[in-house]
Amino acid sequence: MNNIAEQLSLAYHKIDENCQLLSRQTDTVQLIAVSKTKPLADIRCAFAAGHRHFAENYPQELAEKARDATDLAGLIWHFIGPLQSNKTKLVAEHAHWVHSIDRIKIAQRLSEQRPKYMPVLNVLIQINISDEGSKSGIAPATMLQLAEQIAALPQLCLKGLMAIPAPGKPEIEQQQAFAAMQALSASLQQHYPSATELSMGMSDDWPLALRYGATMIRLGTAIFGARDYKKE
Ligand SMILES: *Cc1c(COP(=O)(O)O)cnc(C)c1O
Repeated sequence: MNNIAEQLSLAYHKIDENCQLLSRQTDTVQLIAVSKTKPLADIRCAFAAGHRHFAENYPQELAEKARDATDLAGLIWHFIGPLQSNKTKLVAEHAHWVHSIDRIKIAQRLSEQRPKYMPVLNVLIQINISDEGSKSGIAPATMLQLAEQIAALPQLCLKGLMAIPAPGKPEIEQQQAFAAMQALSASLQQHYPSATELSMGMSDDWPLALRYGATMIRLGTAIFGARDYKKE
């Protein structure tokens, strides 16, 4: 087994263990391999090992990799990075999921630019849960308003929420952020019962995120190793 296959297998094993401790079914958690800055060869390795869900942060990089990977049938692309209006088309044409919706204008453009021959685009609203000016995402209080606007767009399907809590905080603050997301998700689902996904948890904090109901965890370093920061 190569290193990426080993890391994947280890991650799946740990997810299994954590789910057992939490009395959760393992299939309620989707591992998403974050492949930003990594070569397509790494994605091919993970794909050959049976993995199907991959995430990218940069529209151009997503589009290039997606075009070069059309032979990998069944590969699911997630877009998780900040999205500017002039880049929405690349994402609308290549992603299956977008986790980082933080304003209606972006959602409208994605809906308009989604090719009609493709299935509707699954989207998550990104919440700024740590209340830090520099982070993307909307204030929790505006979630339902944005949800209502997204729900009216024909080529999008609202699936849930995403958050990136501020890194390096004491565990108690991380817990508070994840717990707040779990509560927001419950409140969203009261209005939109099919918006069940909760995308939170990265290489350093995913076991805690699982405790607070994460359904999608986004692991980069834990699968592909450290990134070359010159490229980020
Ligand atoms: C890069 C990135 C990840 C993966 O981070 P790791 O710490 O390498 O697991 C997850 N989510 C988002 C939004 C990212 O930008």
